Amino acid sequence: LVKINRVSKTFHRGSEDIHVLSNLDLEVQEGEFLALMGPSGSGKSTLLNLIGGLDRATSGDVEIGGQSIGRLSDRQLAAWRARHIGFVFQFYNLLPTLTAERNVELPLLLTHLSKSQRKDHVKIALDVVGLSHRTKHYPRTLSGGEQQRVGIARGIVTDPTILLCDEPTGDLDRKSGDEILSLLQELNKAHGKTIVMVTHDPHASARATRTVHLDKGQLSTEAPA
Ligand code: ATP
Ligand code: MG
Repeated sequence: LVKINRVSKTFHRGSEDIHVLSNLDLEVQEGEFLALMGPSGSGKSTLLNLIGGLDRATSGDVEIGGQSIGRLSDRQLAAWRARHIGFVFQFYNLLPTLTAERNVELPLLLTHLSKSQRKDHVKIALDVVGLSHRTKHYPRTLSGGEQQRVGIARGIVTDPTILLCDEPTGDLDRKSGDEILSLLQELNKAHGKTIVMVTHDPHASARATRTVHLDKGQLSTEAPA
């Protein structure tokens, strides 16, 4: 489903070049739940953003579902992203002035769906994450775990090809974090959703079907020493 071919990413800071990823290869099969681990600053978020089309590789090719992302214009890329990618963030990134259901609806505003179709999709997504009883709540009146459920509902509401999660349990206590991981596992197993999850937490990676480690610009199946 995802094919990353000899991808490099270099950032320029002042006169300095920061080589974050160097000639990296990665394949993610449909139906996988992949955990991406690695030290802080190793480029995990950078790699996730490349897969999600939020950023472009300096060289190499990122292909998802047969679509080579580098070939798309910025406009085409934005439309492609809206169709195929769901994002879940560490700090939920919910809009405080919108209710849970309005937050979940946001990605659908980029589609051609009618208001009543959007309503149906929002209801299904909130059902899946177990928040049907919280639809009119504002983020500040929800617990961290509930806010992340809203974040996940927003991530899946468009039924994306792939769900990308950047440290989804990083801001949660163990119990809420475990519940979020169970939900992601269920999305993967019962709904067949392909997931790539960045995490520091061995408890989180243990729930994945496969774990890869990023260090010094390269991926390996072994944890770095
Ligand atoms: P963490 O675990 O702390 O979230 P990470 O593995 O996600 O770290 P990245 O955020 O991908 O790491 O960053 C990798 C490196 O790239 C860091 O040195 C960072 O400073 C640099 N970097 C990331 N984004 C940019 C940017 N937009 N401009 C310049 N440098 C950047
Ligand atoms: Mg990061």
